[in-house]
Amino acid sequence: MRLVLLGAPGSGKGTQAARLKEHLQVPHISTGDLLRAEVAAGSKLGLEAKEVMARGELVSDAILLGMLEDRLSRPDTANGFILDGYPRNLAQADALDALLKRIGQPMEYAVQLEVPTELLVERIAGRAAAEGRADDNPESVRKRLEVYDSQTAPVIEFYRQHGQLTVVDGVGALDEVFHRLVEALSPTADVG
Ligand code: ADP
Repeated sequence: MRLVLLGAPGSGKGTQAARLKEHLQVPHISTGDLLRAEVAAGSKLGLEAKEVMARGELVSDAILLGMLEDRLSRPDTANGFILDGYPRNLAQADALDALLKRIGQPMEYAVQLEVPTELLVERIAGRAAAEGRADDNPESVRKRLEVYDSQTAPVIEFYRQHGQLTVVDGVGALDEVFHRLVEALSPTADVG
């Protein structure tokens, strides 16, 4: 199954993707994780991305597309993947669409995890205390939410227009949200 998870920072994409990966037996591809690995490795790309990420801004589309193309060419994606953190703007959505068509693996599902903003802020604050991510400081969080509203939210419309969007309520216990996701991905679910 080829699936993209959409949702604001703090919506729970990463957490749910880790569980869905076990359920669906396909790899979880998180562009945030891929970038953080580059930063940790101190690669050229990582050095370029580090400051941009810490500010809560978007790393360049060209870097992301190259990284993604590379990742999708690995054999473990033959039966599908869960994409998390990409596309984050309309240019990325178009590029991904073209890339997947070119490799004969068009997207099957786009699932939006819907969570109200107040709760997003609360969750990220909790995560900041627990994990100490460099971009979970208040200023960067504000910037990421702003970037999400202005650049990433239109991507939801993109998938709606392509008839691929399913919206799932992301409020509730982890298990509860997970079951909603599994249900939304079952063949009998409404896609609209
Ligand atoms: P979150 O969803 O909590 O914001 P991610 O781990 O998905 O966190 O992303 C962290 C940061 O990595 C983003 O704020 C951005 O700087 C960078 N990043 C991740 N994915 C992309 C992307 N598709 N395009 C541009 N930058 C990205």
